[in-house]
Amino acid sequence: MDKNKITDDPSQRPNNNWKSFLWTLALLLILNSLVFPNLFKPKIIPTTYSAFINKVDSGLIKQVNIDGNKIYFATPGDTIDRKGDTIDLIFQTGKMNDANLVDRLLVADSPNENGKIEFTETIPRENSPILSFLLYWVLPGAIFFFIWRNAMKSMGGRMGGNYMSFGKNKEKIYAEDEIKTTFADVAGQDEAKESLNEIIDFLHNPKKYNEMGAALPKGVLLVGPPGTGKTLIARAVAGEAKVPFFALSGSEFVQMFVGMGAAKVRDLFSQANQKAPCIIFIDEIDAIGKRRDGMTSNDEREQTLNQLLTEMDGFDGQKGVVILAATNRPESLDKALLRPGRFDRRVQMELPDLEGRKAILQVHLKKVKHEEIDLDLIARATSGASGAELANIVNEAALRAVRNESSSVTTADLEESIETVIAGAQRKGKVISDEEKRIIAYHEIGHAMVAAMQSHSAPVHKITIIPRTSGALGYTMQIDEGERNLYSKEDLENRIATFTGGRAAEEVIFNRITTGASNDIEQATKIARAMITRYGMSEEFDMVALETINNPYLSSDTSLSCSPETAARIDDVVLSIVKNAHEKAKKIIRENEAKMHELSEYLIKKETITGEEFMKILEAKK
Ligand code: ADP
Ligand code: MG
Ligand code: ZN
Repeated sequence: MDKNKITDDPSQRPNNNWKSFLWTLALLLILNSLVFPNLFKPKIIPTTYSAFINKVDSGLIKQVNIDGNKIYFATPGDTIDRKGDTIDLIFQTGKMNDANLVDRLLVADSPNENGKIEFTETIPRENSPILSFLLYWVLPGAIFFFIWRNAMKSMGGRMGGNYMSFGKNKEKIYAEDEIKTTFADVAGQDEAKESLNEIIDFLHNPKKYNEMGAALPKGVLLVGPPGTGKTLIARAVAGEAKVPFFALSGSEFVQMFVGMGAAKVRDLFSQANQKAPCIIFIDEIDAIGKRRDGMTSNDEREQTLNQLLTEMDGFDGQKGVVILAATNRPESLDKALLRPGRFDRRVQMELPDLEGRKAILQVHLKKVKHEEIDLDLIARATSGASGAELANIVNEAALRAVRNESSSVTTADLEESIETVIAGAQRKGKVISDEEKRIIAYHEIGHAMVAAMQSHSAPVHKITIIPRTSGALGYTMQIDEGERNLYSKEDLENRIATFTGGRAAEEVIFNRITTGASNDIEQATKIARAMITRYGMSEEFDMVALETINNPYLSSDTSLSCSPETAARIDDVVLSIVKNAHEKAKKIIRENEAKMHELSEYLIKKETITGEEFMKILEAKK
């Protein structure tokens, strides 16, 4: 190539091989600018059209090139010296609408050998068809595509949907590989651990089971009240088995657009198959696994459920994929999910018993700095609490210790945090008049008195008249001596009497009743009702089930299963049970009026008294 060629001649360009051309061009440009900065670059000097015509007429021009609306021309002798090289100067001027230019150039003299000006017009640049297709169609398309996709993605994220999927789910479910949770983190729940041990063994060594021809259940359903450690134990199984853990919550399946939940299930299983042995964990499975009742239809949920059923049938149980699912509403699950070959094994997670609570407290106390703790007392005071609540109590106690600037958690911190969890935080700022305080004190002492006077009631642990954020103005805390599983009819009647004791005290002492007993009334009625409708503790209805519990783990919602006439009679019997208990409570208060005054005065003065203090005053002979 002539190094002084004015423009690059397109006819010489390798059209069909644009890629190598681009590479060559890029290389040349780089070389040009790096190694020989100015070697190939002619010096271009702008000039006027008239100067150009002048030079043409004077026969001074060697070469003319018209490129678009610019005219480049070179004259011999006009050179510059650059780093030892002699470089021709190139002049540039605008192209005018000059029809005679060609004639003029043809006739003009030139310093060229043949005496003619060499002139040409550059053919307009024409990109290769492939290049222009890419440039004008594909590139803008791609840009729009990306903009649109990003917009959709952010929209989809906001609305919880996933628009951009084209049948394949982009939101991948990732397996967690190294789960640190082990069975040591799960206190109690020995039965659950035992039945899960087999699963762990299978995941360790599927061969052993295959050789025997034994197929393990594909699905294990963890069932139990909230906070009993279902999610925790599922992770622990993965941690013990040291296998990848795909965790997903049921509600994550149910997304805004039909088909996505099902796609997600497909995706999940295909990934799990590649990673086997592994665990798939579907938390809160009731979100998708709800019984298809034909009344309400939810296409999305049903498609997801159907996909789940299909996948569970389809995958090879020998391979080592185990599906765990958790729910606290097992009764609402579709029967198809529970049949053999699917979630046919059920692991029951129970609210912890006394020993269980001690163990859970111990696990969580390990995480905080603490002194010697009366575990037995705390465990007894938290009857009915779930693992999650116990974990919360320990944490609250640690927070309290920090607030009090003490160096470690004490039993008192734990006791206080139990009350915080049960009744809310203390509301020290609440203004309560002396008159109200008196009523509250007598009300609480009334409960305690009735409880103490009935040998079968649990002894009083603590009485306080410090108001709580939950709205309680005071309360009496009772702690069972041991763990109770059975309650006799008499026990229940005594408990009802204890609940009515507060109101009874108000009546006997002040001859006035207040709104303070609303919660007591609710509790007393609930027990009385259950005695008749569920425990068969009335003469009239004998052992007939009149009520069924709708959801054993979540609430004590019940539905009556009897005629309206029977329902009316139940109400009568409930009324008579509560009335009897109330009368009994009033009698106890009346008989101990002197002690009532003494105890109440003491409580007003101290605001909080322990069960021991109470019993000491009660038993002291006057
Ligand atoms: P669920 O899934 O049954 O509602 P989780 O597994 O989410 O309950 O439990 C919540 C928290 O409660 C756990 O993170 C753990 O701190 C605590 N917890 C529950 N049960 C236990 C237990 N048996 N041992 C130790 N901690 C527990
Ligand atoms: Mg859970
Ligand atoms: Zn009360």
